[in-house]
Amino acid sequence: MDNLKKNKESTCVVTGGAGFIGSHLVDALLDKGYKVFALDNLLTGNENNLVEAQKNPKFTFINYDVSRELPVLGHIDYIYHLASPASVPDYQKYPEETALVNTVGTRGLLKVAKAHGAKFLFTSTSEVYGDPKEHPQKETYWGNVNPNGIRACYDEAKRFGEMMTFLYVRNHGVDARVARIFNTYGPRMRPTDGRVISNFINQALHGKPMTVYGDGVQTRSLCYISDMVSGLIALMESEKSKGEVVNLGNPEEYTMGDLATKVKMMTGSASEITHTDLPPDDPTKRRPDITKAKTLLGWEPQVRLEAGLTATIEYYKTL
Ligand code: UDP
Repeated sequence: MDNLKKNKESTCVVTGGAGFIGSHLVDALLDKGYKVFALDNLLTGNENNLVEAQKNPKFTFINYDVSRELPVLGHIDYIYHLASPASVPDYQKYPEETALVNTVGTRGLLKVAKAHGAKFLFTSTSEVYGDPKEHPQKETYWGNVNPNGIRACYDEAKRFGEMMTFLYVRNHGVDARVARIFNTYGPRMRPTDGRVISNFINQALHGKPMTVYGDGVQTRSLCYISDMVSGLIALMESEKSKGEVVNLGNPEEYTMGDLATKVKMMTGSASEITHTDLPPDDPTKRRPDITKAKTLLGWEPQVRLEAGLTATIEYYKTL
């Protein structure tokens, strides 16, 4: 009861709130009774993702680039920093914006968190592990990242963001934590964002060739959006997460070749599966070790790949 009362009076800021994960997080926080500000400059986000949220009087959308100083919003209790282009083609199209929002933007938001005594969550990424030499990846692994390759605008900026977050925990006493988000999918991913799930499903639904990059033996572990959102909230609200970095993702691992076959079968598509060049610096394998999330937060994914794919396929059919 006390918790519910506290939630009702508390204000959350979600940067990147019009994006794929951000907008689902906004919906979940509104459901929990929070007042929510979504900040997004709509570089890769879409206001249509907030149609439901806009019906809630506790919700405010502000079109804003969080690499700039934050507008005055009244008292803030929680800051979730998700703003960033996140698909490979998106951050390669906007490398400088990507670098800035995760570095300058993170610092600015940490200053706001300090001024308000707000809890802060920085969304980092499995990309900080680069092409990992350790498998599965634990939070203690330092990674194998190309510092000046085409992914560096994202990988290195996220690593900088982690560093800045921990600097503010240590030197300024900010109650902050870091989520390392592994591949996540579900409704509201832009059909053209270039990620593997959105590509495969949309290619399959439209009878176009399904483009497996390289030989398709590279692996990814795919987490459904509802699981990711509950993990982010659990990490923010945990009393034990200050100064912690936690992997969030689904440890079920698939090769991209098998994923293409599965999507083709589930959509009943006649599309052919083709192979094109593997993009530079494409990690060969990726799977989170989520022991820490399980023990610290009591969190683990609930949605199996088939169920998540079914819901995502249905969503794309409605577009
Ligand atoms: N991929 C693919 N075909 C596509 C898009 C992606 O085979 O049309 C592969 C890509 O090479 C990578 C994996 O799928 O190995 C995941 O790619 P995505 O861009 O979704 O995420 P990330 O590389 O950031 O994990």
